[in-house]
Order: sequence, then C-alpha cells, then structure tokens
Amino acid sequence: MTQIKTHTTDLSLTTKGETDIVDITEPVEEAVRSSGVREGQALVFAAGSTVGITAVEYESGVLRDLREAFEKLAPRRGRYHHEDAWHDGNGYAHVRSGLLGQSRVFPVRSGKLVRGTWQQIVLVDFDNRPRRRAVTVQVLGE
Ligand code: ZN
Repeated sequence: MTQIKTHTTDLSLTTKGETDIVDITEPVEEAVRSSGVREGQALVFAAGSTVGITAVEYESGVLRDLREAFEKLAPRRGRYHHEDAWHDGNGYAHVRSGLLGQSRVFPVRSGKLVRGTWQQIVLVDFDNRPRRRAVTVQVLGE
C-alpha cells in the first residue's frame, strides 16, 4: 500500500502591482524538492482576487505581449460596475484575475516539478498598487 503525503509551503513576495509579472519558479521548485514527494502533483495558489498564476516564457517580449493582451481584454480605463460599490479603481484587476485564475497544478515526477525549459511559473499582480502576496504551494503524492 502506498502512503500519500502532503507538504505545504507558504511563500511571501512583494509586487509593484499594475500587471507586475513575477517569476516564482525557483521557490516553487524548492518547495517541491523539500517536500520529499517523488510522484504526485504541486498546486500553486495565490490568495487574492486581483492576482493570477500561470506559466509563460519569462522573456521581455512575451511579458509585454501578455500585459498588452490583458489591456485589450479588460482595459485599465474601462467602465467597471465594481467601481460603483467600492471606488477603489481596480475593476479591471478583478476581471483580469478572474479570467487568468489564481492557481495552476504541475506534475511532480522523480521528485522534480515537470515543466518545459521555457516555461516559467509566474505570479501576475493586476492590482493598482504594490502588494504583499501570499502563495501556497501544496505538494501531494508519494
Ligand atoms: Zn476592488
């Protein structure tokens, strides 16, 4: 019978806001290494409704393209109903976060997180001000 184990790591990072894209690959891989899990999955989750998690090639052209794509999807200066209730000026950030999603799952094989060479794990902070962000990495497996 196999023994399933879980290992949870809390990461904390600061961002500049305004669709700041932060490479978190190294701390996530370290969390996987220190988990002792050989075969399983790693959930990467960011707490917050104006933040997102995805994987991209961390290259200045791609980062700029991604920011421009989000600007087309949910423009910074658009009209947002969220503003009627909260007046915090970040309606676009909530919409972008909802579309991107706040978590991703990666396979873990032979004790390592599986990803492509040009596939970095990133946190995207859409909010309209610098933030401190909490990321939970939960590794589950055997
Ligand atoms: Zn808001």
